[in-house]
Amino acid sequence: MHLLVVEDDARLVRLLKRLLSQDRHVVETASTAAEALEIATSSIELDAIVLDIGLPDRSGFEVARRLRKDGCQVPILMLTARDAVSDRVEGLDAGADDYLVKPFAYEELLARLRALGRRPPARKYVRLAAGPIALDEAKRRVTVDGHSVDLSQREFSILECLLRRPGQVLTRDQLLDYAWPYGVALTPNTVEAYIHLLRDKLGPAADRVETVRGVGYRLRED
Ligand code: CA
Repeated sequence: MHLLVVEDDARLVRLLKRLLSQDRHVVETASTAAEALEIATSSIELDAIVLDIGLPDRSGFEVARRLRKDGCQVPILMLTARDAVSDRVEGLDAGADDYLVKPFAYEELLARLRALGRRPPARKYVRLAAGPIALDEAKRRVTVDGHSVDLSQREFSILECLLRRPGQVLTRDQLLDYAWPYGVALTPNTVEAYIHLLRDKLGPAADRVETVRGVGYRLRED
């Protein structure tokens, strides 16, 4: 399996990396949430993520939530420091698939990872549509009335966010949060600028992206 181990305890990381490598797993490591998100959202195809809750910058819960929100379906095995029910519940709520209480036996980690690896892959991508607009997440392709529209990555993400919640008003902050990488400092004006570009490119379907004055934007349904 190709694994990502996210843990700030350097000794434990070294140990896991050595053991897992001996068992022919390919292991990436991250010691912070930021690093973990960067690796998990890169082009590396991971089979599972071993994710510690206690990280120096953000909690493992936040990492899991963020990954799931971004559509990452890689199975997550959460490491909890104590056998607290609340930690387990929060972990599973955040999108973790399983958890392991520290300290754990290496054999148990292996068994859990094998179990995660056996799960059928979740459907990763969907096709979204509203009126003449169609968005294919797998192909990263948008069409209006069947004609291909060339969108930048951010324009695509904003449209995707709107299409995922048709008819709902989304604030500029919500769109920022969805379309930009974690921790990038931007102002809501940035969203306005991108909405403007997006409307331009949507041409005849531009009026589907409605401004809700003082609040944000909404994608008009049929
Ligand atoms: Ca830790």
